[in-house]
Amino acid sequence: MHPVLAHDAAQIDHILAQTLATAKQFLHDLPQRPVGVASQIDQPDQLPTNGLGAEQTLEHFLARYSDTLTGSTGPRYWGFVTGGATPAALAGDWLVSAFDQNPSGTTETAAIRVENEAISMLRELFGLPTSFSGAFVSGATMANFVGLAIGRQWAAQQLNHDVARMGLSGLAPIPVLSGAPHSSIYKAMSMLGMGRQQLQTITLQSEREAVDITALRQALQALPANQPAIVVANAGTVNSVDFDDLMAIAELKQEFNFWLHVDAAFGGFAACSPRFAHLVRGLEHADSLTIDAHKWLNVPYDSAMQFTRHSALQVEVFHNSAAYLSPIGENPGFFHRTPENSRRWRALPAWFTLMAYGSAGYQEMVERDCDLAQLLASYISDSPLFRLVAPVRMNVVCFSLVGNPDSTTIQAYLDAVRATGAVFMTATVYAGQPAIRAAFSNWRTTAADVELAWQAIEWVAREHRT
Ligand SMILES: *Cc1c(COP(=O)(O)O)cnc(C)c1O
Repeated sequence: MHPVLAHDAAQIDHILAQTLATAKQFLHDLPQRPVGVASQIDQPDQLPTNGLGAEQTLEHFLARYSDTLTGSTGPRYWGFVTGGATPAALAGDWLVSAFDQNPSGTTETAAIRVENEAISMLRELFGLPTSFSGAFVSGATMANFVGLAIGRQWAAQQLNHDVARMGLSGLAPIPVLSGAPHSSIYKAMSMLGMGRQQLQTITLQSEREAVDITALRQALQALPANQPAIVVANAGTVNSVDFDDLMAIAELKQEFNFWLHVDAAFGGFAACSPRFAHLVRGLEHADSLTIDAHKWLNVPYDSAMQFTRHSALQVEVFHNSAAYLSPIGENPGFFHRTPENSRRWRALPAWFTLMAYGSAGYQEMVERDCDLAQLLASYISDSPLFRLVAPVRMNVVCFSLVGNPDSTTIQAYLDAVRATGAVFMTATVYAGQPAIRAAFSNWRTTAADVELAWQAIEWVAREHRT
């Protein structure tokens, strides 16, 4: 054994103690850590011949990089839709690395049982029937990829074509219809060889990001006879957290032949609260469904769930058969159902946090984040410096500076806000207008954080104006 590796093997207790101390310090300082720091350009490290060993590597890393870690897991990082990591999720995630299990097959390790239990608890949290199977993937983009891959297999099957076996050639493009799809839907279509251009965006309801059902019906009617399609419904858009009417879309299934994929990356958490559950009524009609875990479930990156009611079709697409692996059988292993073969035990942090906080814990977190969004919205409405550009339905506040600023002005303002270190928000375009988004999806955020952030948001706007 290389002497440095042998030394580290003997020092593992000390290495873990140092790591623990580092993590404790980081979390202790987190509320004060500047959010969204700009990364420093520096000479990259070169591959050493004789390595530093784990302890010195940690010291070297901290000296070099600790100032450029953002507080993105902290309470005032409101960019994109960014979750934190609950204490229990963090504990579970650490143990994933220590245990280093590979939950890909069907037997041999508790990892598979725990993944199935986590999926079953999540099904309950989101009010899904047991007809849904599910698996963990690396993020909502991959969950959308899996859902569309199964939908593609289904659509081609309607035309007696097996894409998994025969490929796409000889098959006409599969129409994909959606109102306000997330950018990752286009990306998934590109990866699947379905083509970004085949996405047909459907007219939205006026002043909404929800699809106009009449327009959707017309688009389905306009398809060639017997042409199967995929409809991507959106449950929680990133700007205004708008929801397609899933019941109305599901009803269209009686007349038209389409696969319903629902992207509920963070909007799915509406199901956790009686205040918001009506927004996802009809979720159980999805053929495939995406819900992110590293957003509102507050587990560390990278984690999301894909659910489907068509596990046999999923296995047609993803099965991975070889003599040394277990046969597909009645209860196919995860390597027959997901893009990866070997994979990280992503389910464990989710299992820990679900066991630790339960449905009541998630209801409280979702409702608190939404209350905080309303609090920020009330400050914005009362201020002469800003205006709301979209109603606040759940956890995202979409607003702008007064006087219709262009995107350069908005970005300059956001850069100045970020430079205060107090709060991080991102730019967007809503209804053709440049705007600002503040998204609440972290378990740590409280009203005190909104007060603190608001001081910076308002102060910079005043300075900016003069
Ligand atoms: C965040 C998000 C995605 C992509 O999620 P990743 O986890 O970053 O891959 C897809 N759809 C919606 C609606 C999202 O909010």
